[in-house]
Amino acid sequence: MKRCRESIVAILACCSMGTFAAQQRPNILFVMSDDHAAHAISAYSDKLIQTPHIDRLAKEGMKFNHVFAANSICTPSRATILTGQYSHINGVPVFNAIDTNKVTVAHRMSKAGYYTSMIGKWHLGTNPQGFDHWEILPGQGDYHNPVLYTREGSKKYQGEYVTEVITQLAIADLKARPKDKPFFMMMHHKAPHRSWDPKEEVAKKWRAKTIPEPATLFDTYEGRTEAIREQKQSIARNLNKRDVKGPYPEGLTGDALTRWCYQRYMQDYLACIESVDESVGEMLKFLEKEGILDDTVVIYTSDQGFFLGDHGLYDKRFMYEESLKMPFLVRWGKNIKAGSTQDAICVNCDFAPTFLSLAGEKVPAEMQGVSLTPLFDGTAPAQWRTSMYYRYYHTPGDHNTARHFGVRTTTHKLICFDGKDQWECYDLVKDPAELHNIYDKPEAQAVVQELKRELARLQKELKDTDNLYADPATWPKSSSYRQAPSAKK
Ligand code: CA
Repeated sequence: MKRCRESIVAILACCSMGTFAAQQRPNILFVMSDDHAAHAISAYSDKLIQTPHIDRLAKEGMKFNHVFAANSICTPSRATILTGQYSHINGVPVFNAIDTNKVTVAHRMSKAGYYTSMIGKWHLGTNPQGFDHWEILPGQGDYHNPVLYTREGSKKYQGEYVTEVITQLAIADLKARPKDKPFFMMMHHKAPHRSWDPKEEVAKKWRAKTIPEPATLFDTYEGRTEAIREQKQSIARNLNKRDVKGPYPEGLTGDALTRWCYQRYMQDYLACIESVDESVGEMLKFLEKEGILDDTVVIYTSDQGFFLGDHGLYDKRFMYEESLKMPFLVRWGKNIKAGSTQDAICVNCDFAPTFLSLAGEKVPAEMQGVSLTPLFDGTAPAQWRTSMYYRYYHTPGDHNTARHFGVRTTTHKLICFDGKDQWECYDLVKDPAELHNIYDKPEAQAVVQELKRELARLQKELKDTDNLYADPATWPKSSSYRQAPSAKK
């Protein structure tokens, strides 16, 4: 479990420079949706929905099975992706604005000679920096009749649906791009974020369907800490009338009402995803038509995972698998074997180093992730990490989710709800659904101690040693959550 990060960085930097600097540098299309759980992509699980266009990336490229968010919530994940740093270093632990003076991967890609653009949901409380072109939703943005901001001003897309608007803007920008340089586009969908408002004709189709329930919809939380009982992200208790798009049926109570709420939630959530899948299809079709599909690294991911009734929950935040895990699919012509998979542990702080490595650039020391390019052949270097560090700060947040940190290895997970000094430990091999907390079991004490040592090692390595941001009073100010950035700045 103990690995020297410096040696990994040195080896991988060396590999990546040698591999990609000499050849023509690829375009990069990074498509990220918001709150799209991997188990709502048929390449990962076909129980809930068919996503043929997203699946094409897996069929013609690589499916990553263990990509995790360092802090499973929208704004912090976006900041980590841009900076290659954990929240305690990049200064975005909760819903606070990113420092506009911060040098991000966009600046570095631009300096490396790429045309850089950012289309769609930004949600970092400031105007994007380092991009040649940007067109963003203010704050969370709207599903219907969305407004988008550019440097020059704003435009309302009356009568249009946000996923389609973002797709058309991305295609228009790629058509207008300078052809003498490669492009780096971040295309960020708003969907399928709450309030899960699909296109009406797609919604109608999904409202006629019955969605399979997860095995843990009625999880009793036996043996778990207070955190999972005290949360307010429960299908049974916390979905409001706006979420279910209407009044609750008369006379329905208890488990029957929970089941009804689950159906209403999931029908709309999955309908939103159907439009995202169509968007991916449109983008692939466009790249093909332009004759640049195989020269473009196409990535599909989400800013974190999401609970789809798992453990009786919606939303994210907790370090449990459904929330922690990000879908991550990569297609890159013949450079990645079709239908390949990768099980190595990756973190969203690896994305920025990956982009730079593809551009033939050195990964700067300030970035805490490593390039994923050495994994593209399906193997993993012997020194690759075998554990990852997680930390969530937003207590009580919108859902009374207790702050926590933890470590996930290839076989186990240890979580500390540090506000209460309560712990959970799971054997992910024997108990992948994370139902049996073994933290206090006598037979688990050796592994618990080993995980605590690994947790301490990761905290030291990642410089999260001063308990920064554990207290809400120390959170960075100037939160612009739900506020539109000024188009004039
Ligand atoms: Ca999100």
